[in-house]
Amino acid sequence: MAKIFTKEIKGLKIDPIIFTLKFSCRCNGECCYYGVYTDLNESKLILSIKDKLIPLMDESQTTDVSKWFEAPEKDEDFESGVAVGTELHNSKCVFLDKEGLCTIQKLAMINNEPKWKYKPLYCILFPLTIYEGAMTVDDDHIERLKTCNRFPTASTTIFEACTEELKHFFGEDGYAELDEYRKEYLAGIKDEKKSESSKEVA
Ligand code: SF4
Ligand code: SF4
Repeated sequence: MAKIFTKEIKGLKIDPIIFTLKFSCRCNGECCYYGVYTDLNESKLILSIKDKLIPLMDESQTTDVSKWFEAPEKDEDFESGVAVGTELHNSKCVFLDKEGLCTIQKLAMINNEPKWKYKPLYCILFPLTIYEGAMTVDDDHIERLKTCNRFPTASTTIFEACTEELKHFFGEDGYAELDEYRKEYLAGIKDEKKSESSKEVA
């Protein structure tokens, strides 16, 4: 059953777990070993720049574009309503090179373009994700990875670790609203804890 969340920003519910879960990103991109679901339009954009991507690929990748994407499938969490998975090649996403770099992002950076210009949204957001209309944590994927968030720092939450990603997604105004909600939510938790401990004392 879908969880009930009260706060909504720009049409997306907010799962408050993003304000409390400790997270630190410290590995060589294991999250790219399983590929990713892109929106149909994102996969079309990537295919439209194939002639620029292919020269940047190394021998661990395939330049056969027919092997880059899986068959499209319906998924309402994607803007177009259709998701397209990237294929795996040599046990990693077809776009991951042997140095652990995403070729799609590398292309943008080489051309001095915004680094996420062509990158699928789900790759930008991970370990955050959009699930059943809510911004939440992709805990299923984190759990199946061996190195992701195994030793989180006690001081950093996923919200803090993903500031740039959240600003990219919600815009500065949406991010400011999210931060306000975070403060309200954390203050609410603090008040709840106080009243629980005063009940215990009484
Ligand atoms: S999100 Fe997780 S798996 Fe991906 S690079 Fe960071 S720590 Fe590694
Ligand atoms: S498209 Fe790039 S960032 Fe996304 S899973 Fe593949 S290699 Fe990783």
